[in-house]
Amino acid sequence: MTNALNEQHECSSLVMIENEQVRSEGDIYCANNCGLGCTLSEYQQTVNDAEQLQKRLGPDWEVTVWDNLGWTYSATNGVASIYPPSDGPKSRWTCIINVPNLSGISGDGDTPEDAARNAARRVTDSINEMLNSFSKSVGPLIGHQDKIEN
Ligand SMILES: [Zn+2]
Repeated sequence: MTNALNEQHECSSLVMIENEQVRSEGDIYCANNCGLGCTLSEYQQTVNDAEQLQKRLGPDWEVTVWDNLGWTYSATNGVASIYPPSDGPKSRWTCIINVPNLSGISGDGDTPEDAARNAARRVTDSINEMLNSFSKSVGPLIGHQDKIEN
């Protein structure tokens, strides 16, 4: 039942495939918890795409393939995750960064790198806004920034 899954897994040195129960009948290759009737070729294309992303991002990123209303994949490295475009016409690569004490901040772009760059910029902007918010309030009371640090 999971022969194709195992074969693909062995071909791939880095891409992780979630260990789930898969229905494999003829052209159908679909996780039991999905049930949409995904095909083996959709699965193979997804693994292919995931392997390309793994090569592109390098070994610091963990790329995972799973099936939830369609085979898909994502890459994770620490607080950052990267998702491929969906089938939607305006869909782009998305990067979500979960910095502690900030809610998840996302950015999108035409490439994984652009998405990461846009997400990182939004994180930096948010941190600067936080710094500005309290320095406007207490800055006049406590003097210059360098005096806070000393
Ligand atoms: Zn499916």
